[in-house]
Amino acid sequence: MLKYILLTTFIFCCTLFSQAQHPPVFEGIQTDTSVIQLNNLKINLVKYSYGKPNIHFLAIHDDEDTGIRAAFEYIRFSGGTIIDSQYGNTRNYKFAHKGLNFQTDPNSIYSYEGIVMGLEKYGNIDSDEVVEKLQETSRSVLDYYRADQHGYMFTLHNNADGGFGITSYLKGYPLEKTADSVHVNFDMDPDDLILVTELALFNNFKKQNVNVVLQSEGGPEDGSLSVYAMYKKIPYINVEVQHGHDYEHLRLIEIAIKVLHETYPHLKQKATE
Ligand SMILES: [Zn+2]
Repeated sequence: MLKYILLTTFIFCCTLFSQAQHPPVFEGIQTDTSVIQLNNLKINLVKYSYGKPNIHFLAIHDDEDTGIRAAFEYIRFSGGTIIDSQYGNTRNYKFAHKGLNFQTDPNSIYSYEGIVMGLEKYGNIDSDEVVEKLQETSRSVLDYYRADQHGYMFTLHNNADGGFGITSYLKGYPLEKTADSVHVNFDMDPDDLILVTELALFNNFKKQNVNVVLQSEGGPEDGSLSVYAMYKKIPYINVEVQHGHDYEHLRLIEIAIKVLHETYPHLKQKATE
């Protein structure tokens, strides 16, 4: 009897854990994992593939599951891959180095300046070794995603209700300087938006009348993936919605893929080959 209870408890815990940590896998989906060891922190880059590899999504924050669920819905019907970063269901990388605790935002490690700024932001002490480790980590993420093969970067993020949103980029608001152009659809929730690095993408999103921001080339070098992509001239799309807006996330993903293919017909052709 005890054995049975223990077993049941074990299964229950694992079910709970898997719900918290992993998206709802479905039959026929394939997974492949690349592990990054950032000192004592294990970062699993779990790649889910289904059907034709029509589109390639990347999620770098582990506590943002709405995007992963929406992407699952997308690839289940249309095919594609998703890289889901899993490192403990939190936003920041938290790890130890030589007996000291460090933490930083995974979206600040894509340049030297960004890494230093990101570490400072969380009150970490200066450490060249830690900077190097984070540089290695960013290279591993980039190597696994293969933007050079895809010809673009398509990221998924989620945010909280209120606070950051499309209006943050308007004149007089905190992120004004990071945006060249902003288009707002006032019927949409301001927390649901798309950020791009190419004017051609921005113009086509605007035609779709969705909340969209064109990142400024004069904005701060914050080590984010979008700034990295801009410098490398890789067309970048971030579809970001409020936590729990699953349907809106899926709707915007569908619009984004349409816009991506409209803007770059060779990518559409590649996707249908
Ligand atoms: Zn995020």
